[in-house]
Order: sequence, then C-alpha cells, then structure tokens
Amino acid sequence: MNCHEKIKNVSQHTKAVCWGYEAENGPEVWGQLSSEYRPCSVGIHQSPIDLVNPTQAKLSPIIFNYQSTSLNIQNTGNTIQVAYSKGSWIEIDGTKYHLLEFHFHAPSEHTVAGNLYDMEIHLVHESEEGSLAVIGGLIKSGSINTAFNSFWHYLPSVSGESRQINEVILNAFDLLPSTKHTYRYNGSLTTPPCSEDVKWFVLTTPIEMSQSQIAAFKAIMSGNNRPVQPLNGRELLVDAIKDG
Ligand SMILES: [Zn+2]
Repeated sequence: MNCHEKIKNVSQHTKAVCWGYEAENGPEVWGQLSSEYRPCSVGIHQSPIDLVNPTQAKLSPIIFNYQSTSLNIQNTGNTIQVAYSKGSWIEIDGTKYHLLEFHFHAPSEHTVAGNLYDMEIHLVHESEEGSLAVIGGLIKSGSINTAFNSFWHYLPSVSGESRQINEVILNAFDLLPSTKHTYRYNGSLTTPPCSEDVKWFVLTTPIEMSQSQIAAFKAIMSGNNRPVQPLNGRELLVDAIKDG
C-alpha cells in the first residue's frame, strides 16, 4: 500500500502524517496535517526561496571532506534518496557538518530570478549539536553527466523500494560543479516538519545533466517541489557573481 492509498483508506492518525505533493496532502496543507508540521504554515523563515538580488559579500569558503560510499538508494515515495555512510563532512566557519544523505527534487525548489530549473539536488548535513546545513545544486539540461552514471541505472522506481549495492561506489563531491560559490541564507527543511534554523548554501553554478538523464528521473518522480516561500526580510548573500 502506498501513501496515497493510506490516506483514502485508514485512520485519521495515518492520514495526519502522510504528507505528499497531491492536493489533499501537498504543500498548501502540510501545516494542517499534523501539529508537528505547524512550521510549514506558520514559519516565517521557510525554504525554498527565489534567489534574486543577493547581496555580495566576502564569505568563508566551504571546506569539503567527502569520502566514497557504497550505494544505498531508496525511493521514499516523496524523493529518491542516497544514504551516506559516516565520515564525510563540510566545514564552514569552524563548524563541521556531517553528510547524512542526498536526494532530488524535480523540478527545482529554489528559483533564480523566478526561473525553475529541471531538478535540484540537496545534500543534507548535521553538526554534532544537531544543526542542519544543506547544499543545494540546481540541475539543468545540457551535457551528459558521467558522475551520475554509476548510480543512475539503479534509481528505484517503486515507492518504498530500496537497494544496497556494494559494488557501486560513489563520491558526492564528484556530483558538484567545480566552481563552488554559493547563495547563502537561513531557511528551513522544504518538507514536513519544515523545521527552521537550516543553513542553506545553493551553488551559483548549475549542474548539467543530459535530457535523457533528467527524463529517467522524471519518469519515476516529478512534481516533488515545494513552491517558493516569502523572504520576510531575511538576508540573501552570495559569495560571487553568478558564473554559470
Ligand atoms: Zn530536498
């Protein structure tokens, strides 16, 4: 039984936590589905946002220390997620954030001056103290991206399906563009419970993938993007002129 069927058939409790992207359980109503999801409707520092008119600033670089991991990939019903084994981290302004997983949205969640991209990758990190930092990469149609080939064949097509494939080794660093300037702002998770105090770093240089690579993902999952949220006076910084 998938989440959609549960909503129609079983108890109010299950209905309350079974969020998704359909009219009856989508972003417009997430805040009403569960008391834990209230930030989705009442939060004022929410994500994603439109990336427009950033303030240029001299910002400390993100230090990457990503190791390779064997492939553990899951179709959660709301995204396709690759779990990351322990030992990979980024460091920003002296704080280390450990890479937990990366996953995808199609189309993108963040927009740039109002424009959606084909897809977006989110690399989710957590510090020892439990604070979150997400690196976002906008994905556009272009050249074939060989860094994704190793695991793109293994995208699980069925909700709930997961695969552990020890022979497939990947390093998330290979998925990122070589130029790593970022838009930076403080926001939230883009999915329930929409918790705030998430540090966002969205790469200014898009990642290119071929149309067929994008189509392979969208054939399994599309429309899993939350609409942009109001900035509400937050500071949006960028550490370089957009170069992609
Ligand atoms: Zn995400």
